[in-house]
Amino acid sequence: MQEKIVRNWVWMNACRLYVYHVSKSKDAGKSMPMESSILKVFISEVGEDVSKDVIQIFGGYGFMREYHVERMFRDLKLGTIGGGTSEIQRSIISSTFPGFEKFQSGLLTKESAVSGWVGNTEEKIWDLLLKSIENLSSGNFRKSHPSKEFAFADLVSLVTVLDVFRNSIHSVSGWYSEESKIRDSKILLRMLIHRFFSSLHKLSDSEQSIKEIIQLVLELREEESLVSDCFAELEGKL
Ligand SMILES: Cc1cc2nc3c(=O)[nH]c(=O)nc-3n(C[C@H](O)[C@H](O)[C@H](O)COP(=O)(O)OP(=O)(O)OC[C@H]3O[C@@H](n4cnc5c(N)ncnc54)[C@H](O)[C@@H]3O)c2cc1C
Repeated sequence: MQEKIVRNWVWMNACRLYVYHVSKSKDAGKSMPMESSILKVFISEVGEDVSKDVIQIFGGYGFMREYHVERMFRDLKLGTIGGGTSEIQRSIISSTFPGFEKFQSGLLTKESAVSGWVGNTEEKIWDLLLKSIENLSSGNFRKSHPSKEFAFADLVSLVTVLDVFRNSIHSVSGWYSEESKIRDSKILLRMLIHRFFSSLHKLSDSEQSIKEIIQLVLELREEESLVSDCFAELEGKL
């Protein structure tokens, strides 16, 4: 139960930060077709999972119409269908990918040196994620393999969402300390890799860096202590 609550807390913060980032850029008149599709597919799919967990946390009550979580669960399903399905969004993400140089220059955290990550396995994974996007974005292997086109879209989404969260670490926020954001960014990295594991696996036969990422994931430690620290903090806030 604690792990579910922590997971949903981190997903909600990642979604919130990403919505604010894309909305702010749109308000400033920036065209962001790829980021808008990432937002649509990521938030609607994560929303489905969060609402499913909430039903589970409520137990039998979650199933009853008297409790509004049942309604949230049903309504959230529309997110992956209406206004462009998740499959179509993935196709848009892949086709609007601007090329590696432009993509990298648009990232908010250009260096891997984000506090709390330096010298850690997380930093190595971040560098390899960028390297794999660079290598996979050249050539046209994606066009001839539709399943890889979608897997590439997931890889780009993973890096983009993580980038916005990592960038938020140093911004001042009364309710969310730098220390908590560093911890949660590490939890988010693990959750994103689990979430997109099958896509990473699909790409691994075309890209050596992905194989190295999968190997490094096995070396990621401290998951349990990160989760219990986060839960203890949330419990203190209630
Ligand atoms: C509650 C609700 C409200 C709606 N309101 C509106 C509205 O106000 N205005 C409006 O215009 N529309 C509305 N829609 C329609 C909605 O936009 C469509 O249902 C949606 O775009 C999906 O199209 P479709 O139903 O024709 O599915 P299809 O296009 O037939 O897709 C069926 C499945 O095939 C997949 N698929 C299709 N093409 C590809 C491809 N090239 N590659 C991989 N997979 C593919 C889809 O992702 C989906 O999983 C609404 C739908 C619902 C459920």
